[in-house]
Amino acid sequence: MKVQIDKERCKECGLCVANCPKQVISYEEYVNHASYHPVKIDDENCIGCGFCYITCPDGVYHVLGGDK
Ligand code: SF4
Ligand code: SF4
Repeated sequence: MKVQIDKERCKECGLCVANCPKQVISYEEYVNHASYHPVKIDDENCIGCGFCYITCPDGVYHVLGGDK
C-alpha cells in the first residue's frame, strides 16, 4: 500500500478522482459518519505519485514515503 486513506474525513468532492493520473480512485459502497461515500484506491495500479494527497482539501490522504 502506497497511500493511506482516512475514510471518515472524505467529503466525496471528487477532486482526487478527477486528478489521479492512473484513474485508480473510486468510491466505497458504504457511507461514512458524515454520510459521504469515501474514496478507495486500487492499490495494484497506484503509482504513489501523491497527487491525491496534494489535491484533497480535507486531509484524507497520507502518502507512504519513498515508493514511486
Ligand atoms: S498516489 Fe497518484 S496514482 Fe495513487 S491514488 Fe493518488 S493520485 Fe492516484
Ligand atoms: S479530494 Fe479528498 S474529500 Fe474530495 S473525494 Fe477525494 S479524498 Fe474525498
